[in-house]
Amino acid sequence: MQTAEAGYLRCAGGADLHALHTSPDLLKGQEHDDREALIRAYDQGLVGRKAGRALYDSIMAAAPHGECPLCGTGEVDTLDHYLPKTVFPLCAIMPINLVPACMHCNHSKGAALAASPDTQPLHPYLDQLGSERWLVADVRPTVPASVCFRVQAQAGWPPSLAARVQHHFDSYNLDYRYGQKAGRHLAGSRRDHARLLALGPDILRDALMEDAESWARTDLNAWETALYFALAGSDWYVNGGLLHT
Ligand SMILES: [Zn+2]
Repeated sequence: MQTAEAGYLRCAGGADLHALHTSPDLLKGQEHDDREALIRAYDQGLVGRKAGRALYDSIMAAAPHGECPLCGTGEVDTLDHYLPKTVFPLCAIMPINLVPACMHCNHSKGAALAASPDTQPLHPYLDQLGSERWLVADVRPTVPASVCFRVQAQAGWPPSLAARVQHHFDSYNLDYRYGQKAGRHLAGSRRDHARLLALGPDILRDALMEDAESWARTDLNAWETALYFALAGSDWYVNGGLLHT
């Protein structure tokens, strides 16, 4: 298992996580008895036994603010096997393969393997997306106001990373999920925003920009950060669009 873990890290160091699928070190443990024992070590040792469960819980608790690192919006309530344990039994209890996740993301991902390097899901421990904003939003002049989200690939990203981020965004349905959250958030903020608008559009815009900068300090690519930058940048919203219901 230690050899397999070293192989895992080598693939990650080469920035080709899709190569994990064919790593001979990781594909060991396929014989029936080995597979059963390894999966049992997860189900009964890590999940089902008190000492193991403490380790399981500590990995879940490592997610900042208890937030699912796959979607950035769900609540962590399980561990996801980045490489499915049914295909890679040696990775069943390998810490680097155990990622905190919400149930929604865990079910969305399932046990299917990516068909190509461009569709390899992001690995929260290993993929580095840089320190720029890549999640952006646009306000739609609907009644009431709504917001859509999209990925803006960074200039420094290789094309394969840009494709993977887009695939991740699409496969976890993040435009829809963030849009739902943003809609509820706007409904709850409407009264406060209307109060600021009564003082003038520039007052409202400045306040929205303050909120955007504040969220950006917490998480540059949180949906809330993208939402507030979009609201502050929307002439339609700050000139009264928010009042349409
Ligand atoms: Zn999630």
